[in-house]
Amino acid sequence: MELSEIMKNGRTALTFEIFPPKRDMPIETIYKTLDGMQDLHPDFISVTYGAGGSAADTKTADIAQIIKEKYGTESAVHLTCLYNTKEDIDLICEQLKERNIRNILALRGDRNPNAIREPQKDFPHASDLIAYLKTKGDYHIMGACYPEGHLEAKSLEEDIDNLKKKVDAGATHLLSQLFFDNDVYLRFLERARKAGINVPIEAGIMPCTSKASIERMVMMCGASLPAKFTRTMARYENYPDALREAGIAYAIDQIIDLVSRGVEGIHLYTMNSPYVAKRITEAVAPLLNPGR
Ligand code: FAD
Repeated sequence: MELSEIMKNGRTALTFEIFPPKRDMPIETIYKTLDGMQDLHPDFISVTYGAGGSAADTKTADIAQIIKEKYGTESAVHLTCLYNTKEDIDLICEQLKERNIRNILALRGDRNPNAIREPQKDFPHASDLIAYLKTKGDYHIMGACYPEGHLEAKSLEEDIDNLKKKVDAGATHLLSQLFFDNDVYLRFLERARKAGINVPIEAGIMPCTSKASIERMVMMCGASLPAKFTRTMARYENYPDALREAGIAYAIDQIIDLVSRGVEGIHLYTMNSPYVAKRITEAVAPLLNPGR
């Protein structure tokens, strides 16, 4: 299904995010993840792109092509611009064209101390990349949004003003950063709508399945943790299997609440785990679009 179609007529989308195997691992290792997800039929699977990634690394595009052609599922590539020049983006657009990929999550990317080159100046913000991609082809372009504000923004208000620039530049769909407090997300949604951002926005859900992943995530994105979440995690932190189940249950609970409050889509950060994706999808898929 075309990206522009998936949320038409009030349909609630379910999309997945995966990441490519590490640089020294063969691309085939992704098959285990994709084989395990093939019966789940998300609306699309997006594939991340390394911070500081270069045009020479085609893993993201290759995997997006495999998802489409081998598994028959719509796919999207993430593309960051901080370390890429216009020439790099031109080359990547050629690679996407060769692979028949039109869905792009256009991102600035984070500063990466291990990047192979200095940050480049052609695209200071994701909105610059989005505007450029619009001149390059018939892409469906998505942008990232931050329910609690991006860490570098002075305020949520400023960040929402900048988000509007992405939409004005041509993003027709937004995917949110992970969050654990639905009220925070719904307040953000209301403010985004008031600011004139009227494109579909998917809520980013990250099931917390290990103590390390919780700590890493919170450090990276500064998501606030509601008492219900910290209590649950504290109760099971020394029991990995129970913690994983509690993380899955929390995510399911979050999704059901969001769907019943009318969100347009759920973007599931699967962490490449077919088990987690399957458990959550089986629980929530019948509730997304009942009667359709
Ligand atoms: P921008 O939209 O450029 O925003 C960055 C900062 O600049 C914000 O503070 C914003 O308020 C400000 N800003 C934006 N536009 C303007 C403007 N025109 N003028 C002034 N200020 C402005 N990272 C990866 O490396 N690879 C991935 O695959 C990846 N996938 C992601 C998927 C999702 C769903 C999300 C939410 C994030 C993802 N990220 C990924 C992380 C992302 O790259 C970082 O959060 C990065 O710091 C910001 O990227 P952005 O596209 O939101 O940047």
